[in-house]
Amino acid sequence: MKTSEAAPLRARAEIDLAALRANVRALRAHAPGAQLMAVVKADAYGHGALPCARAALAAGARWLGTATPEEALALRAAGIPGRIMCWLWTPGGPWREAVEADLDLGVSGLWALREVTAAARAAGVPARVQLKADTGLGRNGCSPADWPELVAEALRAEAAGLLRITGLWSHLACADEPGHPSVVPQLARFREMVGYAEERGVRPEVRHIANSPAALTLPDSHFDLVRTGIAMYGLSPSPELGAPADFGLRPVMTLAASLALVKHVPGGHGVSYGHHYVTPGDTTLGLVPLGYADGIPRHASGAGPVLVGGKWRTVAGRVAMDQFVVDLGGDEPPVGSEAVLFGPGDRGEPTAEDWAQAAGTIAYEIVTRIGTRVPRVHVNVNAEREA
Ligand SMILES: *Cc1c(COP(=O)(O)O)cnc(C)c1O
Repeated sequence: MKTSEAAPLRARAEIDLAALRANVRALRAHAPGAQLMAVVKADAYGHGALPCARAALAAGARWLGTATPEEALALRAAGIPGRIMCWLWTPGGPWREAVEADLDLGVSGLWALREVTAAARAAGVPARVQLKADTGLGRNGCSPADWPELVAEALRAEAAGLLRITGLWSHLACADEPGHPSVVPQLARFREMVGYAEERGVRPEVRHIANSPAALTLPDSHFDLVRTGIAMYGLSPSPELGAPADFGLRPVMTLAASLALVKHVPGGHGVSYGHHYVTPGDTTLGLVPLGYADGIPRHASGAGPVLVGGKWRTVAGRVAMDQFVVDLGGDEPPVGSEAVLFGPGDRGEPTAEDWAQAAGTIAYEIVTRIGTRVPRVHVNVNAEREA
């Protein structure tokens, strides 16, 4: 199943790796002075971690980033070379495996520093540690008050040969809201916390704080590296910031299904659980074999858009676990016809952003939640003849 012309499937998420590579190149042009970390956590936001990691590296990403160590270890086990960073640790995590796999490990507190130091001693190999500062996000990261102690202890472990402090980093809270007043103070706090560590003797390879919205719109945030997720998948971090095309980005995922049934029903016919939709007159219904088990949000009941036979249709009634219905208004596309839920938008289909709005969420959640029952079909896998 290498191309979209393969045997018809119930449903498929087609992943255009040429678009992903072009997005990586566009992002590098937005942040020309910085290295790029391709964030491939959560199975590359639902796009398939391994093929996306390979495509991002082919297009010039220097780093890969994941949330959990298990995600990073899986990339390494699959033979992905180079720098891979992971940052979401809990006590008793696979520190030793991570040290031996030569990963870069985000450390936000003393408990983590102690566990990584013990693992490095046991492994007999120094760990690569990136100290994370909470500059105002209020989530993970070391508070300014605790920073001196974390820096001091990390420097002692570095002097003992147990680790190398490879990075100082943080994360922005509101980079996706144009002009948000938290951005400037967060950047100032980051400079202070980096400055403090460097004065004490930390020599990081990379200092970084920018996510996709910051990479696209806040050049002051680029430092040595930008960590891009959503933009690499061709989606805008927020419609307030602009559409993907405004940044030279193209959506990578197209979600489509084959109509499982087309039938005539009279007016006044209830549709799907609860009969929240009742046909306004004689019409045809199309059955789309995708449901909330596949990641179609139940909150998009009565609202989600679908392209069928060249026309936008709307989810009629409730999204069920495995299927939903669209009112085809009397049209009779053959059973098996393609129903496109979202894609880049240039064939007239809706976008993931349209689904996000229909479901009251963000496009990140739409693509990331597409379930494992939907095969990912990667196309344009090879980068030949590209710029
Ligand atoms: C997920 C994540 C990113 C990527 O965010 P996008 O908005 O998708 O670019 C960057 N850094 C950290 C720490 C993350 O968890």
